[in-house]
Amino acid sequence: MTEVAELLRSRIRDVPDYPERGVMFKDITPLLADPTAFTALTESLAELCTAYRATKIVGLEARGFILAAPVAVRSGVGFVPVRKAGKLPGATLGQAYELEYGRAEIEVHAEDLSRDDRVMVIDDVLATGGTAEASVQLIRRAGAQVAGVAVLMELSFLGGRQRLEPGLDGAPVDAI
Ligand code: AMP
Repeated sequence: MTEVAELLRSRIRDVPDYPERGVMFKDITPLLADPTAFTALTESLAELCTAYRATKIVGLEARGFILAAPVAVRSGVGFVPVRKAGKLPGATLGQAYELEYGRAEIEVHAEDLSRDDRVMVIDDVLATGGTAEASVQLIRRAGAQVAGVAVLMELSFLGGRQRLEPGLDGAPVDAI
């Protein structure tokens, strides 16, 4: 493991049985509170955005916003929030997806993405991949291309990467 990955790993707190029994919650607040770790993460994500020639960064509500916004500023490209349904005031595109129990829907302001955009999707945790997959579908429906999906960490035993990759047309999935 690289030095940066080791530092980041050491700043992620495992919280058992949160928010419900059987879930090991990956709490990133210790990482955010450490400026060396937060800066290192931002730089690593920004390097990927530059390498993949991203022109927009999409952050997934809510912790994805915290990571994606400084990456967008550092990369010199725009930030676009993908939010839970009903939170964005303008004309939106929506995408529903299945959760373990029930359904969820996410939305984006349609005017924030254009045909010329190459979009990098950023979130904290890739678990089952449902949220990232729905955001990839939204970006495509807005007419833009997906440059890649980048997360702080993936819970590989949940198979998110396997679920995402077939729909990405070769765009990379990276976990820092
Ligand atoms: P999924 O759609 O299953 O890939 O879940 C990803 C979303 O749920 C991300 O936005 C994460 O912030 C959140 N999430 C899922 N599992 C965890 C976990 N164990 N710890 C922290 N966040 C999680």
